[in-house]
Amino acid sequence: MSRFIKSIRGMHDVLPDDSFRWQSFEAIIRQLMGSYGYREIRMPIVESTDLFCRSIGEVTDIVEKEMYTFEDRNGDKLSLRPEGTASCVRAGIQHGLLHNQVQRLWYNGPMFRHERPQKGRYRQFHQFGVEVFGIATADIDAELILIGARLWQQLDLKGIRLELNTLGSSQTRAEYKQVLVDYLNQHRELLDEDSLRRLESNPLRILDSKNPAMKELLDNAPSMVAHLDDESSQQFDKLKASLDATGIEYSVNPRLVRGLDYYCKTVFEWVTDELGAQGTICAGGRYDGLVEQLGGKPTAAAGFALGIERILALLEAQQELQAESVDLYLVLLGDACEIAGLQLSEKIRQQIPGVKLITNCGGGSIKSQMKKADKSGARIAMILAEDELSRQQVTVKYLREDKPQASVGFDELINFITEL
Ligand code: ATP
Ligand code: MG
Repeated sequence: MSRFIKSIRGMHDVLPDDSFRWQSFEAIIRQLMGSYGYREIRMPIVESTDLFCRSIGEVTDIVEKEMYTFEDRNGDKLSLRPEGTASCVRAGIQHGLLHNQVQRLWYNGPMFRHERPQKGRYRQFHQFGVEVFGIATADIDAELILIGARLWQQLDLKGIRLELNTLGSSQTRAEYKQVLVDYLNQHRELLDEDSLRRLESNPLRILDSKNPAMKELLDNAPSMVAHLDDESSQQFDKLKASLDATGIEYSVNPRLVRGLDYYCKTVFEWVTDELGAQGTICAGGRYDGLVEQLGGKPTAAAGFALGIERILALLEAQQELQAESVDLYLVLLGDACEIAGLQLSEKIRQQIPGVKLITNCGGGSIKSQMKKADKSGARIAMILAEDELSRQQVTVKYLREDKPQASVGFDELINFITEL
């Protein structure tokens, strides 16, 4: 006997009891993005490894440790995408969508990172992402944040805070990096192992450290704000003014740096205290240099990505879960009724778009079929037996309400169901 093969650690099935929660989230984002004039883009799940090395950065955790990389049968080096921005930029350049144009795009799909699986952190997870190309100003940064705020409102999610920072232009960012490295080098003895490693590779990331032993050191570190260029600080002021005007609360977190190399100027995170260590549910910012870095013409760009599993976990923590159910269950007794039942079911589906009707298949006694009807969550069972068939009627039983059963003729059935 062969051994049962399970799914890969950190990669999960979405079971039928849960899939409708994903569907309702997806329906909301589709509607939401339409309301802001954004259009969907769908990219492949596999890309050249180089794409991610060149965009996310060689010395980031994602590229160094987390990517699923393999050679295909031609010997090409490929990776499962760990995020969507790089692919989106690649597609934009490849299809000429970016140069001298404004694009407002969104995507939704699985991403892959070989991390240590835990609650809110998986190896296959799903992101909803939004990217805007061709707008360099703070108004679009504000729009991206407003989209997030509207989404929390539509989902009725509470307690989500906005943290903001600005990283400056890529030039001032590089200058600040040097100032920071000099400061940290003077205090090497206080750095943990991770930070010593990052000092060489990705020093800004050290600011992000959660190690309490380094808190004082980092609190006293030279601040990025003092090293900002005028343009970046003006843009940041304008963004804050727009958020004030639209009633969006935020706090400025000078230690917010984001893990990916390509960010500049505005960065932001939406965070919650309800999901333990995995509290960042949505993160984004401006990445004006990336299009050029990947071989396109210089193009302003900004976006964010949201972890769908974390949003669904938060919904689960805050709201009572509803189960998906059907409207009607057709109980059929005897051969003649099974055939008549198929015809009747097709007529109902044809004439009432959106109706959810289960037609009993596989026979069974009335008792066992009524049990299935109840389990399906249907509001109503319709019974068709010899007796009903000869009168061209069904018997209607209300499964969730205290109402007497009724007989409804085939020709009145469409009206009857519609009026329910
Ligand atoms: P974290 O600090 O939690 O590792 P990140 O900075 O790596 O997040 P991004 O690359 O900015 O995250 O991805 C955007 C969002 O995608 C995150 O805010 C989070 O909600 C979600 N996300 C990232 N990695 C995972 C994962 N392994 N499992 C589930 N969701 C994830
Ligand atoms: Mg991460």
